[in-house]
Amino acid sequence: MAVSFLENVKQKTELELDVLKFRIENFNKPKFKCPICGYYGPFRDLDLSTGSTVKHEKCIRCGSWTRHRLQKLVFNELFQEYDPSTKRLLHFAPETCQRERIPLLFKDYVSADLMMKDVDVQCDITNLPFADGEFDFVLASHVLEHIKGDYKALSEIRRVLKPNGIAVLPVPILGKNTIEYPEANPNEWDHVRCPGEDYYDRYLNFFSVVKQYTSKDFSDIYQIFIYENRNVWPNEPCPLRPPTEGEKHIDIIPVCYV
Ligand SMILES: [Zn+2]
Repeated sequence: MAVSFLENVKQKTELELDVLKFRIENFNKPKFKCPICGYYGPFRDLDLSTGSTVKHEKCIRCGSWTRHRLQKLVFNELFQEYDPSTKRLLHFAPETCQRERIPLLFKDYVSADLMMKDVDVQCDITNLPFADGEFDFVLASHVLEHIKGDYKALSEIRRVLKPNGIAVLPVPILGKNTIEYPEANPNEWDHVRCPGEDYYDRYLNFFSVVKQYTSKDFSDIYQIFIYENRNVWPNEPCPLRPPTEGEKHIDIIPVCYV
């Protein structure tokens, strides 16, 4: 116990030193506030395998990306009228920066994924091993763009939800119209399609209401826009992604009601 306590203190101290070093090295960059961990300062830029760069993307303290910060703000709003502490959550493909925080919000928590070993249930999202109506809430963030049979996955998510269930199923929106790929692209983390603004229309085949929250619904201070040079596409790593002008793009979180 004493060793793990000391190890914990050591890790926290090292993290704070890294945060301090990053703040000093990037003192002239824009500053933002992380709604997840409370950090205030510059965020980290990321060079991606897609050939693009996203600026101000990663919180240096908790590791959150734009999508996680926007989800947190959407949840804050949602949970003003919906009490998660009495609800059962299925969290598909839980990200490292979400794993400590999200389970604490809900009464019961089940993590699941096809490839990850450290989850409660290893399973295929197009063939869930759960009974009908087992969950109140499903969270699967940036999962469906990896799933060829996304309609089957949506049908399964709908099946395991209770009659008044909610699913939060964001994907990256990267253009006007969704483009299906002939095969998974390893340069895009094995995405099988490029979801466009029309993608969430598919959810209406399974849910009665799909409410879309965007980066414009909350304060800029939280850095919930995607600052990415999307005019580099199509390029060699992403031959089927469409180009988009501008360097500041909205992220969209769909909240789906059964
Ligand atoms: Zn943070």
